[in-house]
Amino acid sequence: MDAPHHLINEFLRQHPGFICTDCLARAVNLPPSQVSMVTHRLRSDRAFSLTLGVCSHCRAERTVIKAA
Ligand SMILES: [Zn+2]
Repeated sequence: MDAPHHLINEFLRQHPGFICTDCLARAVNLPPSQVSMVTHRLRSDRAFSLTLGVCSHCRAERTVIKAA
């Protein structure tokens, strides 16, 4: 497991609730492009759910992710 993937994985498990790519990038201190690459891969992972919803941090309606 690579470092960005690990960071994001850990963050999502420790912070329940939906979060968007931008807020996630800020939270783990990684470029948003790198974060969206990881979240794209997590799309096929049953441990996470990706959906269109409201981010619990910035309240924007967009693609959000959370640990399932
Ligand atoms: Zn957000």
